[in-house]
Amino acid sequence: MTRPAGDSTMNIILLGPPGAGKGTQARILTDERAMAQLSTGDMLREARTSGTAIGKRVADVMDRGELVTDEIVIGLIREKLEGGDQGGGFIFDGFPRTLAQADALGALLDEVGQTLDTVIEMQVDDNALVARITARSTCDDCGEVYNDQSKPIPADGKCTNCGGSVFKRRADDNEDSLRTRLMAYYKQTSPLIGYYYAKGKLQSVDGLGEIDAVAGEIKTALS
Ligand SMILES: [Zn+2]
Repeated sequence: MTRPAGDSTMNIILLGPPGAGKGTQARILTDERAMAQLSTGDMLREARTSGTAIGKRVADVMDRGELVTDEIVIGLIREKLEGGDQGGGFIFDGFPRTLAQADALGALLDEVGQTLDTVIEMQVDDNALVARITARSTCDDCGEVYNDQSKPIPADGKCTNCGGSVFKRRADDNEDSLRTRLMAYYKQTSPLIGYYYAKGKLQSVDGLGEIDAVAGEIKTALS
């Protein structure tokens, strides 16, 4: 892993509807710019087993089947931001999801003396998302993403990345549940597009292209 030219550290948010490919692009940025991906799900899983005070709270809440509050998630992000060497910076993937969370994140960054550099909005048409997500599967071992149309699982049934032979389709990869998740995105999260636009942070990329093309657009947006 190498740091980008100029040794710059950037904190960015990847914003976009479910299935837009935020996770895939975050992985590319992680590899190419030594950035650290902060995904809420990963942080919660990690916290649960960490044994820290906040980790115990997370475990309690999740064991009771309750939703983890914004305050807890912000606490976990705070630990990461204050955790020392952060390489190329942080990629927020899946957080913030609401205006309240965006405000809380902004306040936290101010508090710890960091800035949010750019918000990348990945624009993808709904119908294209439905077509894409229903065609998608991932390698169970390494998470490599395959697509029935654009990147089918190799004929020998082995992952090109790790050689694994078990592939999963997400349980919620069906049209109805995606449309429900899209509706939640438009209601709760899409107001963030205007929010960050008003702050002069927003850059939009066409999320419909091939993975490399989208990565190229993001690279340009960050330079
Ligand atoms: Zn694999």
